[in-house]
Amino acid sequence: MSDHSSSVKDFEESKFFITYDEMIKYMDSKFTSTVCPHCGKDEGWFADTGNAEDHSDATERMTLYKKPYAHSKLFRLYVVMSCANCGTMRSISAQRVRDWVNEQTESSNG
Ligand SMILES: [Zn+2]
Repeated sequence: MSDHSSSVKDFEESKFFITYDEMIKYMDSKFTSTVCPHCGKDEGWFADTGNAEDHSDATERMTLYKKPYAHSKLFRLYVVMSCANCGTMRSISAQRVRDWVNEQTESSNG
């Protein structure tokens, strides 16, 4: 986990974001099903958004939540979505989404 601690040191919270559009692409790529694992319905998911000043679909940003580690100044950032039927909430690592989006950008440039 040494890579993790060095990236935390360089981390600038105010510059870290995930757009709604990027999140949709990530989910399309990673999730094999949109069925809720708890209620078994496929009625869609509400993604928490609302950090952007400009609220067009492509630039709207995912709301980021921060989960502090016990006994440490470190924390984890995550995004949240909830099942439209039963309200079960899913948390997804914001860093993993960001890394994946960056990988796509790099591979399309190279
Ligand atoms: Zn559900």
